[in-house]
Amino acid sequence: AARLKQGLTKTRQQFTKQLAGLFGGGQIDEDLYEELETVLLTADMGVDATQTLLKTVRDRATLRELKDPRALKQELQEALTELVLPLERPLDISTHHPYVIMMVGVNGAGKTTSIGKLTHYFQSQGKSVLLAAGDTFRAAAREQLMAWGERNGVTVIAQDGGDPAAVAFDAINAAKARNIDVVLVDTAGRLPTQLHLMEEIKKVKRVVTKAEGSAPHEVLLVLDANTGQNAVAQVKAFDDALGVTGLILTKLDGTAKGGVIAAIARSRPVPLRFIGVGEQRDDLRPFVAADFINALFD
Ligand code: GDP
Repeated sequence: AARLKQGLTKTRQQFTKQLAGLFGGGQIDEDLYEELETVLLTADMGVDATQTLLKTVRDRATLRELKDPRALKQELQEALTELVLPLERPLDISTHHPYVIMMVGVNGAGKTTSIGKLTHYFQSQGKSVLLAAGDTFRAAAREQLMAWGERNGVTVIAQDGGDPAAVAFDAINAAKARNIDVVLVDTAGRLPTQLHLMEEIKKVKRVVTKAEGSAPHEVLLVLDANTGQNAVAQVKAFDDALGVTGLILTKLDGTAKGGVIAAIARSRPVPLRFIGVGEQRDDLRPFVAADFINALFD
């Protein structure tokens, strides 16, 4: 819990401090609700989640005849936890063997770093991992993945230039031959508006299914928390185009926009599998709603 708090320092500095000021004393009145609205919007919760939360805490304050702002803080904490709880659905890789995960996202979101972290995470659970260097556009991306592979002692399937779908196909067959538990397929960063690149990634997905009938078992969208409300738009766009089954929200350590999780929960509640709270390989945490919200409140 202490490490999660540390990882959420920026959001805590802003949101947690503002809450403390808001609920520290005085009375529950319209001014307080107005300020609360501003605090929620500033944390990037978005208009919809903010209005929902305000209504919930207002209703509860009335129902329970609350007078003390500290009691209202408690109500807010509970309402926020309930709001983001649908996102808490941990990744279960025991359902398929090999379990094939396709990693997608825009450039710079933290895809490659997250692959490194996931590799470490699965290995620490005694699972074997194989990586597919499906970002065939950038030689640097392939090298970065190779470096992560080397550091963690896992095989990386790559081709010079070449076709990302073919790399994914080879990787899955190699994983089957070697009895590997998890295959992580990297793909080139792209915007959902780049239609030709979206066609390409759909092809990768189709070929993955050809290599292993039930795969991909997870299409994992990596999002940079710094992008705030834009992350919400990315979830919708990638999900509409490709079908997204899970999210990783990265760089929560460097932003005060942690509230974007509430916006995602309201707009498109795709399971938030992990959060990224730093650049090191163990800076990845499964998302646990109560832990996350508690870290913001005290
Ligand atoms: P990609 O283009 O999506 O593959 O992005 P990268 O994995 O190369 O990451 C882009 C930058 O973000 C790198 O400098 C990473 O070290 C950094 N990064 C990724 N995840 C996190 C995170 O959770 N916290 C912080 N502070 N930096 C991160």
